[in-house]
Amino acid sequence: MEVITCHHNSDFDALASMLAAKKLYPDAIAVFPGSQERVLRDFLTQNSFFQFETTAAKDVDLAQVERIILVDTRQPGRIGRLAEALERPGVEVHIYDHHPPMTGDIIGAIDVHRKVGATTTVMVGLLKEKGIDLTSEEATVMMMGLYEETGCFTFISTTEEDLQVAAYLLSKGANLNIVTDYIVKEMTSDQIALLNEMLQSLDKINIGGVDIGITHVLVEEYKGDIAILAHKLRDMEGMDVLFVLAVVEGRLHIIARSRIDEVDAGEIVAEFGGGGHHEAASASIKKIPIVEAKERLINVLRDKVRIRKCAKDIMSFPVKTISASQSIAEAGDLMARYDMDALPVVDDGSVIGIISKASVSKARYHGLADSKVTDYMNAGIETLSPDAPLSRVRQIIIEHNQPAVPVIDNGRLSGIISENDILKLLHYESLKSSLEPYPHIRKKNIAKMMQERLPARVLEILKEAGIVADTLGFTVYTVGGFVRDIILKYENLDMDLVIEGDGIAFANAFAERYGCRVKTHEKFGTAVIVFPDGLKVDVASSRLEHYEKPAVLPTVERGSIQQDLYRRDFTINTLAVRLNPSGFGELLDYYGAQRDIREKVIRVVYEDYSFVNDPTRVFRAIRFEQRFSFKMSRHTQALIGNAVKLNFFEKLSGKRLFNELVLILKEERPIKAINRMAELGLLRFIHPRLRVGEKEREVIGNIIGTVAWYRLLFLKERCDPSLVYMMGLLDSLKLKEIDEFCIRLAVPGRLREKLVIARKTGVVAMRRLARGGLKDSELYHLLKPLQMEALLYITAKGGEEVKKEVSRYITHLIDIKSALSGNDLEKSFGLKPGPEFKKILAGLLDAKLEGVVKTREEEMKWVKRRIKK
Ligand code: ATP
Ligand code: MG
Repeated sequence: MEVITCHHNSDFDALASMLAAKKLYPDAIAVFPGSQERVLRDFLTQNSFFQFETTAAKDVDLAQVERIILVDTRQPGRIGRLAEALERPGVEVHIYDHHPPMTGDIIGAIDVHRKVGATTTVMVGLLKEKGIDLTSEEATVMMMGLYEETGCFTFISTTEEDLQVAAYLLSKGANLNIVTDYIVKEMTSDQIALLNEMLQSLDKINIGGVDIGITHVLVEEYKGDIAILAHKLRDMEGMDVLFVLAVVEGRLHIIARSRIDEVDAGEIVAEFGGGGHHEAASASIKKIPIVEAKERLINVLRDKVRIRKCAKDIMSFPVKTISASQSIAEAGDLMARYDMDALPVVDDGSVIGIISKASVSKARYHGLADSKVTDYMNAGIETLSPDAPLSRVRQIIIEHNQPAVPVIDNGRLSGIISENDILKLLHYESLKSSLEPYPHIRKKNIAKMMQERLPARVLEILKEAGIVADTLGFTVYTVGGFVRDIILKYENLDMDLVIEGDGIAFANAFAERYGCRVKTHEKFGTAVIVFPDGLKVDVASSRLEHYEKPAVLPTVERGSIQQDLYRRDFTINTLAVRLNPSGFGELLDYYGAQRDIREKVIRVVYEDYSFVNDPTRVFRAIRFEQRFSFKMSRHTQALIGNAVKLNFFEKLSGKRLFNELVLILKEERPIKAINRMAELGLLRFIHPRLRVGEKEREVIGNIIGTVAWYRLLFLKERCDPSLVYMMGLLDSLKLKEIDEFCIRLAVPGRLREKLVIARKTGVVAMRRLARGGLKDSELYHLLKPLQMEALLYITAKGGEEVKKEVSRYITHLIDIKSALSGNDLEKSFGLKPGPEFKKILAGLLDAKLEGVVKTREEEMKWVKRRIKK
């Protein structure tokens, strides 16, 4: 008898795969090994177009089973009592599956495993290959499997092939109305998004031979659907044990699921004050950083996971055997077919020896392929009972050099442990001691995107950096805003490199090879590489920062790239791209940066203390928000509100605050950012009396046009628009208050002077200009003390009349000088410097401004006349 079966708790992918299997094996009976998921059960009982004949598992006579066709699973623990049939010698297993390989997987004589979104895809592919046609009803059911398992093709596990199969099913008449009836309503788009996020951050670790999944997800509000998603994820990835860390506002929920003996979910979460059953449990704790939570969880797991400790835990079954009467050649074929290194030799139902691949090769080499296996087998081998400790297994294989150990239960051969199994076990144990918490992250390569979007020279430098890092044995990444801007297609040439290793050594080696200068900062492990033409590249050693007090610069320690990224401000700035030649362009996204870039969200990197530790991030948040037209997440904005309420900015050094302010004012259109600062209550930290009301907003709003006007008309003069904006921002302050602002924010002396002059002299001049009627010389003297920025400020503030006068001044007067200098007065007229001397020079300039004198000769005459008087 042939039996088709799938995993218990069957879903549509399992049903569709069984249906397809039935078409491949028409004589087989189909068996659900246990219960079905609710939706599937509903479908099977309610639908009117599709009947699928199945046999109840309890009615299957296991002794009659000759072949089992397994779909959508390879785990003996998931097929109920049919697993018992696997143990019978001679039962053949055929497997079709899409789940990733796991320990304890059954090995099939035919074993089709493909990395696609659904097993249905594998099956339909085979049907197509064999030219087996589908009815429209069948196509509909298969489509349901495909839709469900791929989250309507939105899960990142979805492949091109899944979509091609969908297209094929559609061509066969699959009815999408029916599909949506049963499938689509099952998950909301929010749930799908969350599930995707959980998939993205899924880590798989192995403790003592047990595969464990850990993932984390950020949710706005805890509604309990995480538990459903955990279930979904566990099935999708075919995992026995899954932990979900769900970050919700101020709390961290741990949702634990286990379906194996080795891990007791309840016991694990009890360590976090939670509870539940062996299979399902949860805890809710005060939020701690996710990295920390994961580390704690892994430590608990290391302690609590019951590692596999006896022969039956690691043996493979069912066992392929060869009988004593068969030949070496037959043994060789069998080994090749099932990919085995050793076969037990059976005579009259009992194991009499083991024939190894090595002996088979040797015998064949000597032309003895026709000899009997008994001639070359290891006789007198050791066997073990299922409960024998692993230490004993190891002893037999390693010390006695036996190629494999048969496991005998009550005189029956129930399993076999090969040398390979032991090696795997040793490997796990060494893994256990050097367990890296984040071995698994979905990889994406953006090398092509970089090639398209970066200037050739920048790309070249990045590649060279990878080569240099290789020679030093370091890993180098480009990180942060630079990577964000590649994805956003936003020009940015500020390359930031992070070295896993010694950043300074890297910078020196790079500089030496490419003829650059280096500036280093030993204390922080950072360096700047300066190219001969002035281009700069920042280099850091991946770092862990500790904040001793709020609002002070962090002290720095070395750490991994992931930890380095964790300490960054916002998720959108946490991307890194590997630059070493092997894997150039590999994108690391640990914190959902791509998602947030896609969704245009500024979000802190899982840190409630983000703004407490570094209040400058508030200004950065505003800057990014306005620059990219993104929006802060609700939680992020709430954290800012908190920081404002608690006055954290007062602890910020004036200098850092000033820097941030300047950066905001340097943005293309700072008005939006200024409004946002006002909205968030930040202005009072700049100065307690600072207001941005209707009037000020108009001034600031005018600056953009004024600067544009200026740039268009007066190309040669340089000016700094951010300073004009600063003048505009401070418009509501009195002179004395501007002074206070400068002191509090440690504004450099030169700038302070400009600000004061703009306010004191500028505003007076502006009022005078508005009244009009100024002679050229009067205009000149009125505006001469003002820098260009102050001129633009009063233009933006004063309106059309002022603009005309400023324009007249810049166009005609600003550069006027007398041809004669003080020197000339001394030499030609024998005058000595002094008050009178100054008056003469000033008078001469006025004469020139008024057009009374034009040439040098006329100036000479004018001076002569003046002296005579
Ligand atoms: P811009 O485009 O304005 O330069 P940026 O994101 O590149 O923005 P930089 O100041 O150049 O910002 O800093 C580079 C990277 O360093 C950022 O992308 C971010 O990852 C990190 N970073 C900068 N400032 C902070 C901060 N205050 N807190 C945490 N991380 C920061
Ligand atoms: Mg930058």
